[in-house]
Amino acid sequence: QAKEAGKNQYRFYSEAAQSKSLERMTMESSLRRAVERKQFFLHFQAKLDLKTRKITGVEALLRWQHPELGLISPTKFIGLAEETGLIIPISRWVLHTACMQNMAWQKAGLPPLCMAVNISARQFEDQHFLDDISSALKVSGMPAHLLELELTESMVILQPERAIGILKELKQLGVRLAIDDFGTGYSSLAQLKNYPIDTLKVDRSFIQDIPNNEDDKTMTRAIISMGKSLGLTVVAEGVETQEQQTFLRENACDETQGFYFSRPVESAGIEALLRSHRA
Ligand code: C2E
Ligand code: MG
Ligand code: MG
Ligand code: MG
Repeated sequence: QAKEAGKNQYRFYSEAAQSKSLERMTMESSLRRAVERKQFFLHFQAKLDLKTRKITGVEALLRWQHPELGLISPTKFIGLAEETGLIIPISRWVLHTACMQNMAWQKAGLPPLCMAVNISARQFEDQHFLDDISSALKVSGMPAHLLELELTESMVILQPERAIGILKELKQLGVRLAIDDFGTGYSSLAQLKNYPIDTLKVDRSFIQDIPNNEDDKTMTRAIISMGKSLGLTVVAEGVETQEQQTFLRENACDETQGFYFSRPVESAGIEALLRSHRA
């Protein structure tokens, strides 16, 4: 009896595994086609300076418009793109498009903005990574200091010597470097002090329960003050309420980013936001 049940269970699991791998294969081939068929586009989310109240820059966020499935979030396909290596051509497209867009805004008369681009682990390990960055800058004509690369703790902590070497080369190009989702990885600011980074982005998980959670408030204050004492620009991610923004301003956080100030929007939305914000 038990043996029978075991067999059935095995068959059940194996069918589930099979349909999972079928789903994966389907996703993989449509992801492959998506690059060729230009189904990707970018949204941009503004960052606000809490002291000057100026918009300092935007972050490019990848979107996939799938012909049948509709809009797919990057959290649903970045993993597969990394496993299959498709992240490399996709990331080249993101970099190039983000830089071109930033220059188009400037040509349209908007003030110079910093463009932040998310970098994946696979891309950071790729031997052409530095060339891809220089080529996006060269082709678009965007000044290097207007590009900020968002890296994560694990990318730079796992192979510190190699990472520091690459970060130094990137700094030589003149780009800005940020640590994204700070506080969720295993690194500490003590470790990061040897890295040539410019910006620390405090992860949304610390912000979301402010002002109710005292521990999160304590942690956020500590990250802001340590980050600032290391000379870094500190940005809080995922700011959704006025109370959170007030807390951050009172605790000398430099910038905020989140639904409270602006959701990620398409390029026309950024132009409108900048024009109305200046007025
Ligand atoms: P991330 O870089 O930490 O980006 C912030 C994410 O939080 C974005 O989700 C953004 O839409 C969302 N967000 C912003 N403000 C708020 C808020 O106030 N509340 C809440 N609940 N969420 C907020 P999105 O666009 O789905 O991107 C998710 C992640 O996918 C990004 O996290 C980043 O790690 C990755 N990603 C996005 N675009 C790219 C890309 O071009 N290349 C790579 N390698 N990764 C990307
Ligand atoms: Mg980011
Ligand atoms: Mg983040
Ligand atoms: Mg995050």
